[in-house]
Amino acid sequence: MARDDFFPTLVGQVRSIYGEDFIPLHRPVFEGNERQYLVDCIDSNFVSSVGAKVTEFEERIAAFTGSKYAVATVNGTAALHVALQLAGVQRGDEVLSQALTFIATCNALSYAGAEPVFIDVDRDTLGMSPEALRRWLSANAEVRDGQTFNRATGRRIAACVPMHTFGFPLRIAEVVAICDEFGIPVVEDAAESLGSYVDGRHTGTFGKLATLSFNGNKVITTGGGGMIVTDDEALAKRARHITTTAKIPHPYEFVHDEVGYNYRLPNLNAALGCAQMERLEEMLAIKAEVARRYAAFFEGTGVRFVQPIEGASANWWLNAIVLEDETQRDALLEYTNSQGVMTRPIWRLMSRLDMFKHCQHDGLENSQWLEARVVNLPSSVPDGAMR
Ligand SMILES: *Cc1c(COP(=O)(O)O)cnc(C)c1O
Repeated sequence: MARDDFFPTLVGQVRSIYGEDFIPLHRPVFEGNERQYLVDCIDSNFVSSVGAKVTEFEERIAAFTGSKYAVATVNGTAALHVALQLAGVQRGDEVLSQALTFIATCNALSYAGAEPVFIDVDRDTLGMSPEALRRWLSANAEVRDGQTFNRATGRRIAACVPMHTFGFPLRIAEVVAICDEFGIPVVEDAAESLGSYVDGRHTGTFGKLATLSFNGNKVITTGGGGMIVTDDEALAKRARHITTTAKIPHPYEFVHDEVGYNYRLPNLNAALGCAQMERLEEMLAIKAEVARRYAAFFEGTGVRFVQPIEGASANWWLNAIVLEDETQRDALLEYTNSQGVMTRPIWRLMSRLDMFKHCQHDGLENSQWLEARVVNLPSSVPDGAMR
């Protein structure tokens, strides 16, 4: 389709879903018990890091994802920081991850004192490529005494952190299988993929640990918040311990047995999360309907509307298209944003940021290709769509 026709019809399509006002990329929806649960917290005085809503929110997330344990944190970055530590990542280690991700992934790696090694993504999933992972490990890794080292740097490869971009599941079972061969624990960054599945199994239940985010722009929000999920009881216990200052339980004494964090999610935020969880299934259904409308619109236009791969299902957190080239991408961004329809390019690759440009990578051919072409479209639950 010619560009001049295509951009205005796209804006028309977005407006047919979201109306005539300024259209943000993603906004939260509070149409359930949010207000009531917040008032309950205030009335009961339980607004901080102790309270029934935190436990309830954790139980709801565990049940929804099918994880045995869930530990709530102040945000997704903090969850990832702690999860890396629980996976055994230490200062000076290397961690395999994606250059195509949001900065939080690499920030958490840095807090843990580790350095990322950037593995390429697949063009269809936008997430870590099992093929690229195997290629890099075969060429660079060496297993000694059950641990994997980078032959060139001599450093330990302590973990692998794949990320399910925009809620589209990556080939996680393959990634985990490869990491298992090398004895590398997988920590899934599932910040964007609450409600996304692979073969009926929730994303974030494939690795040793996974983390979620409930920031204001995610599928559901607690204002700010995160979660560590795992099936390992000992890890869950430790997660709870070090996110709450590593205090040894005692009726009145203050004794802490290691350097811990003040990372526990406040009850106020958890209250919001409980109310959001009550509506999650409904929100996901509405978001899938929005995606169906976009998919129908893009059919036959020559523009690829990103879809989950065979066997996977997406939460449709952020709808995404892949344009012909950077020129077309920039023209679309310019036009849509000037029309009050918010669109965004995918993140600048981590490997090109000052803090990480010295880090090792595998060439990142697909990551660069996608970086120049991917654009997100407005993806909120439309006004008035909820019952
Ligand atoms: C949102 C997000 C996080 C966590 O972000 P917080 O704002 O700290 O909750 C981590 N990784 C990715 C890929 C994200 O999109």
